[in-house]
Amino acid sequence: MSAAIVERNGIHGGFSGGLAGFMADGGAEDPLRPIRAFELRVSAVQQLTPHFRRITFTGGDLELFGANAAGQTLDLRVKVMIPALGHPLPELRHLRGSLQEDWYQNWRSHDESTRGAMRTYTVRALRPALPATGGAAGTPAELDIDFVLHLDGGSGPAAEWAATALPGDSMTLIGPCARWGDCLGIEFAPGAAERVLLVGDETAVPAIAAILESLPEHVTGHAVMEVPVAEDFLDMAAPSGVEVTWLARGQRPHGEALSARVRAVVVPAACSIGEEPEDVDIDSTILWETPEAGAGHGLYAWIAGEAATIRELRRYLVRDVGMDRNAVAFMGYWRQGQALD
Ligand SMILES: Cc1cc2nc3c(=O)[nH]c(=O)nc-3n(C[C@H](O)[C@H](O)[C@H](O)COP(=O)(O)OP(=O)(O)OC[C@H]3O[C@@H](n4cnc5c(N)ncnc54)[C@H](O)[C@@H]3O)c2cc1C
Repeated sequence: MSAAIVERNGIHGGFSGGLAGFMADGGAEDPLRPIRAFELRVSAVQQLTPHFRRITFTGGDLELFGANAAGQTLDLRVKVMIPALGHPLPELRHLRGSLQEDWYQNWRSHDESTRGAMRTYTVRALRPALPATGGAAGTPAELDIDFVLHLDGGSGPAAEWAATALPGDSMTLIGPCARWGDCLGIEFAPGAAERVLLVGDETAVPAIAAILESLPEHVTGHAVMEVPVAEDFLDMAAPSGVEVTWLARGQRPHGEALSARVRAVVVPAACSIGEEPEDVDIDSTILWETPEAGAGHGLYAWIAGEAATIRELRRYLVRDVGMDRNAVAFMGYWRQGQALD
């Protein structure tokens, strides 16, 4: 199987791509890399529900933002650079957006109190620019991110930034370069699977929504999402054969309702038992186990959210249900009680 458990001190998900060529039209000093820096500004802010705030970004170089071959973003992750209060972001060492090889080490070398924070988010939607037609004005390319506002309890710089962001605010995102070819940062890889199981907490809702929108109509399965309160349930498009279940956490512990629902949807067969997955210390490493392609035409599962919940579901699905690990992606998106710098 092809699985990766990536150390926390790296840029998890393998976002530190190296130099591999030069832009055909850019000259020798304009290196082509899998990821680049996008200097954007907030163009709209929408409070979707009590805990979801959609921030729309626009900017000159968004037309270079990558997607898969079908133009979809699925669970595409980006790095969001949050400035420290009262300080501009440090220079990110890029040349017209192309990041230099040591940009991350350079960013880390700046003083923590002034360099700001880097966090991982999902592209909820990417809309290409529309040219002006007839009397109608054109629209610029736009990118949406749905931020969870976890302000009650353990708040963090990204949630705080999102809670107060206003149109006109600037923001640097690090994401895939459209000219590279392969789009770095997408994990959803169902292959030929015709049944899906999509499971996540509120941080995975943007990815699950984008994945559901992209699925062909013949795909069947379940999407199960746990969010803080019932007012956070969102409308989303899905194939008619995919049952979408929303769970409101309320006062229950994080992940309790999600685990119970997954156990009801995927029941172990009486005569099969799987291997015990190797343990992952979720306090020092990120739980990140993603196969490169789904296994055959059967079930493909994609599961993301708080690391302890995901570790527990991984154990259930791998050991108790005996799921093929080539057909399931497990991703710890955050860890309760820990900042993810
Ligand atoms: C691939 C990937 C994609 C992601 N996509 C999204 C997305 O689209 N939208 C989104 O909102 N998040 C997303 N996340 C999760 C997000 O990166 C984390 O929630 C991150 O910790 C938020 O940063 P922060 O600065 O607000 O809080 P941090 O400084 O990282 O953490 C501060 C405190 O807040 C707690 N905390 C962090 N997140 C939450 C939460 N959601 N609920 C309750 N407590 C929390 C931490 O445990 C810590 O105690 C994604 C993560 C990954 C790895």
